[in-house]
Amino acid sequence: MCGIVGYVGPQQAQDVVIEGLRRLEYRGYDSAGVALVVAAETGGSVVTAKKAGKLANLEKVLADDPLPASTTGIGHTRWATHGPPTDVNAHPHHGNAHRVALVHNGIIENFADLRARLEADDHVLVSETDSEVVAHLVELQVQSGESLTVAMQRVCQRLEGAFTLVAIDAEDPDRVVAARRNSPLVVGVGEGEYFLGSDVAAFISHTREAIELGQDQVITISRTGVDITDFHGHPAEGRRFHVDWDLSAAEKDGHDWFMRKEIFEQPRAVADSLLGRRTRDGLLQLDEMRLSDEEIRDVSKMIIIACGTSFFAGMVAKYAIEHWTRIPVEVELASEFRYRDPILDHSTLVVAISQSGETADTLQAIRHARTQRSKVLAICNTNGSTIPRESDAVIYTHAGPEIGVASTKGFLTQLIACYLLALYVAQVKGTRFDDEINEVMAQLEAMPDHIESVLGDCEQVYELAREHLDTRSVLFLGRHAGFPVALEGALKLKELAYLHAEGFAAGELKHGPIALIEEGLPVLCIVPPRGRDQLHEKMISGIQEVRARGARTICLAEAGDTRIEPYADVLIRLPKVPTLLQPLVAIVPLQLFACELASALGHDVDQPRNLAKSVTVE
Ligand code: GLU
Repeated sequence: MCGIVGYVGPQQAQDVVIEGLRRLEYRGYDSAGVALVVAAETGGSVVTAKKAGKLANLEKVLADDPLPASTTGIGHTRWATHGPPTDVNAHPHHGNAHRVALVHNGIIENFADLRARLEADDHVLVSETDSEVVAHLVELQVQSGESLTVAMQRVCQRLEGAFTLVAIDAEDPDRVVAARRNSPLVVGVGEGEYFLGSDVAAFISHTREAIELGQDQVITISRTGVDITDFHGHPAEGRRFHVDWDLSAAEKDGHDWFMRKEIFEQPRAVADSLLGRRTRDGLLQLDEMRLSDEEIRDVSKMIIIACGTSFFAGMVAKYAIEHWTRIPVEVELASEFRYRDPILDHSTLVVAISQSGETADTLQAIRHARTQRSKVLAICNTNGSTIPRESDAVIYTHAGPEIGVASTKGFLTQLIACYLLALYVAQVKGTRFDDEINEVMAQLEAMPDHIESVLGDCEQVYELAREHLDTRSVLFLGRHAGFPVALEGALKLKELAYLHAEGFAAGELKHGPIALIEEGLPVLCIVPPRGRDQLHEKMISGIQEVRARGARTICLAEAGDTRIEPYADVLIRLPKVPTLLQPLVAIVPLQLFACELASALGHDVDQPRNLAKSVTVE
């Protein structure tokens, strides 16, 4: 979950590492630390600076007390799993002799056992982390004469759990050694310099040439090249790739928050996610759909597994997939899936949705599904990440890097991928005619303009948000595809504004939650488009019920819907779109509302408290 950086080359390692950590800070910000190898001529030593809290705290320490010059270093921003976010628990960690410094992302599941053995051998461990034992073990190996590379290989063989590890050795100033299992690590290839990072944002200001490491690999970077092995020292290979987005994509583009920038990028992100999906003769094609038509025709059930915002995208997908393909769909939280002994077989298609492609709960769930012979399709925004690598098929969402911790364009592009999947399966199974599929594709292709028009009305939403600075509780109501939108709108407010916020299916309200309604309570209502069964009318009844009990109704309804007017204290207009696609426009005002309200409350919108972007621990 954390950010990890490593560097060896001609530049000042401290500067490169701190810059890399700044770009990765969204991954975790409980503490930050850096370690460098210095003065090799005089025997060499490792110097470290680390500090609890955000990277700025470490930068202040370094400004007051600079570390000596060095061209070899490592760094870490932490998202604590073992031990609170204190200076002592911050990474890098050392062995007793202070010869090795090491940073770790993930969880060492057998650390207690390893720690007990080290302590029985008189090792003094100073932190509460699971990571520190690894620094001791690696140091023991180099002290016995092994190279840092072999030391890392040997130690990795003894570790259980998930880890990216990066280490330096005071007596070997020309190399940085890293290893990965179930946690991310990429390598940047420069001219006479090499970089390690949790993702490419760590080094794209220096190079766009990269290597993606496989599972259970150890990599050694030096000034002259890289060397990759497995945990047993056998030669191995990574995959070379060129990073096709630039630094400006990782910057804020004039907005106050990455999140706000990403909300405004949604028309582009949606358009990009739709690019290249049709053949010349108009048929849908999904580039990494490695499942044959026969395998798709055999699918008798789909299970969508996801967490957080992705889970709500999965709920929308259920409506679309069942409607267009007639295949039953279950939507399940990844963290619950594996532990309930789900019924899976070769005709079950498991769809895993994860923006980062590293979400540990989802990863474990797909591994379980594959052992049961089910096929897995990943919907993911991060090329080369673990979940797509371990899946049978992938639909990449092409949202570009999402830095704000609260997902926005990630969500919208996941919805697009879900619609594409549903239409593709409908095409292969013949449950929809080609002209029907083409009609929906045309509606999807009109979405960037619709989203743009919603963004054009942002001032109304911002003003509304600023009226709610004293609000302690907000409810969201939706029906059908609007129900997941209500849940996602509430999640955004919880994540960013730290408010009590809940989303309900409007029809469920009278079965309990209506007791929450009191005078003046703001209730945001996602009104379905007119013309679909009695959905619209039923929603209006629900709105009347809360209004009769004093709620302040803030209604999101399509242009031209006059029926809603008498029941809306505030009316936010949405473009006229089909019911199933309405989430693509309806969520946008709710994102703007949460972003503006949190901002006006003085919260850090890009790095909300207690959260991190990519949840790589279960
Ligand atoms: N488990 C380690 C710790 O709590 C590493 C957490 C991380 O990935 O930042 O320090």
